[in-house]
Amino acid sequence: MTTGRPRKATQKKPVRKSRPAKKDRAIYPALSVFSTGLKGRCPRCGEGRLFRSYMKPVKSCANCGLDLSFAEEGDGPAVFAILILGFAIAGTALMMEYRFHPPIWVHIIVWIPVTIILGTWFLKILKGIMIAIQHKTGAGEGKLQD
Ligand SMILES: [Zn+2]
Repeated sequence: MTTGRPRKATQKKPVRKSRPAKKDRAIYPALSVFSTGLKGRCPRCGEGRLFRSYMKPVKSCANCGLDLSFAEEGDGPAVFAILILGFAIAGTALMMEYRFHPPIWVHIIVWIPVTIILGTWFLKILKGIMIAIQHKTGAGEGKLQD
């Protein structure tokens, strides 16, 4: 329905602002971001695999078809892994040094493999949790408005 004055020929058409991505309206039960992240499963259905290789997310869920192109977690999981594991491992190494005074080669043999193994394991879990949080909250890359 048109209202008001007719539009002049020179008047510009109103520019439609871009809308945010469509909300996911598929009906699935709400899943915990922590359980799907820990299991490495799809944040929507909880069944499909989230990673095609050790830490590379799939393009879409094989079970429900959820497009996972939004999964751009950037450096977020790495920062949390560094902060949390760094605190835990450095604290444990300091406690071991304080209590047992082992030679330096014991620290090297123990803490380098522990850091690598726990780091890769924890990073994958944090990536899964971050992707699930992105799906749940609809978070995405920041955009400037016109
Ligand atoms: Zn799915």
